[in-house]
Amino acid sequence: MKYWKKLSHAEQDERISAALTDTIDYKQKISLGVPASKLDPLVFYEQASFLKEAPWLRTYVQNPNHIGCHTMGESEEFFRGTQNIEREVIELLCVDLFKAPEQSCDGYIAAGGTEANIQAIWIYRNYFISKHGAKHTEIAIISSSDTHYSIAKAANLLHINWYPVVVDETTRNISAEAINETLDTAIANGVKYFIVISNMATTMFGSVDDPDLYADCLAKRELEFKLHVDGAFGGFIYPFSRPDSNVNFANPHVSSITLDAHKMLQAPYGTGIFLARKGLMPFVYTNEASYVHGMDITLSGSRGGANAIAIWMILFTYGPYGWQEKINRLLYRTEVFCKQLTAAGIGFYRHPNLNIVTIHAKHVSPILARKYGVVPDNHDNPQWCKVVVMDHVELDQLEDFVHDLTKAMN
Ligand SMILES: *Cc1c(COP(=O)(O)O)cnc(C)c1O
Repeated sequence: MKYWKKLSHAEQDERISAALTDTIDYKQKISLGVPASKLDPLVFYEQASFLKEAPWLRTYVQNPNHIGCHTMGESEEFFRGTQNIEREVIELLCVDLFKAPEQSCDGYIAAGGTEANIQAIWIYRNYFISKHGAKHTEIAIISSSDTHYSIAKAANLLHINWYPVVVDETTRNISAEAINETLDTAIANGVKYFIVISNMATTMFGSVDDPDLYADCLAKRELEFKLHVDGAFGGFIYPFSRPDSNVNFANPHVSSITLDAHKMLQAPYGTGIFLARKGLMPFVYTNEASYVHGMDITLSGSRGGANAIAIWMILFTYGPYGWQEKINRLLYRTEVFCKQLTAAGIGFYRHPNLNIVTIHAKHVSPILARKYGVVPDNHDNPQWCKVVVMDHVELDQLEDFVHDLTKAMN
């Protein structure tokens, strides 16, 4: 690990306090032109004594704007302090978690995984238009049928088609044959340029695609493509449970990655993360954003700086070893649960490196689904129900669930 380590609460406080000093204090500095200020003091009382101990809340009250992308070009002077912390988070994730060379990537904190995925597809669509003069009908998204619906949303917004690749019903894997079949259909429809979305843990199953499988199929036909990894769910797990994987920036086919700190990292909502190799973000540069100092190349405009601080604090509270231990604990619980399901003869899917267990819905009555809060793949005619082994999901609860499932079978 180059950047990631554990820091005490006092060390974190010192660092964030310094960052806040370097971020505009509207009481101290005259600023007549910024349409921003700290949170309304009538409503959000800033003298509350607990704020002293809570650097994240202090950032929240000071309300820095992180508009733009801070890993490149210049950024708004006013909010420099906390923007530096965001830059640090992005660099840490690219280098320490996803094996990128130092300073080789850009990124920003997005509203969520949805925004980060749209940002990726927006970049690649514009890339093909700008580099190859592609028409919208010549560009398409290809990804497994288990892909998150944000990809369908992106296709709709960006006016390109999405071609799903069928997955094996039991293994949830895509195969070269399935990819080739999808490519045949797309090519017959005039598609020449492909945006691949490779999943690092699908939402419903936790299944992981092999990016090299897509790359091989596309390269064999000498087709142009760009590959994005959707790690909104798995991004903070898979690099720990499968450190030798090919789903990172050490793989030359991987151009960008989505993460979601508001899932496994338990950060506040609004902490999606977009990471991309340098040179890609400028394909979505908005020329018209002349009053923003720096580069307007993100889908969201203004966004709260406290989100970056929250991610930074979580990462530095655990440190890499603490986080590895937490993931190990969740995987251990998942394994115990799977053994119990197997012993009870209950069918399920689980990727060996992830903490999602997806059970055949026929075993789970609506009453049990409600009692245990398991989530169906669709609400009208569910085929599958999933359990996500988060911090709050305890072995006793899982055991009770298996017990009730077994009772219902007899
Ligand atoms: C949750 C999820 C998303 C969307 O993330 P939001 O933060 O809800 O926008 C995208 N992809 C995958 C795989 C997800 O699990």
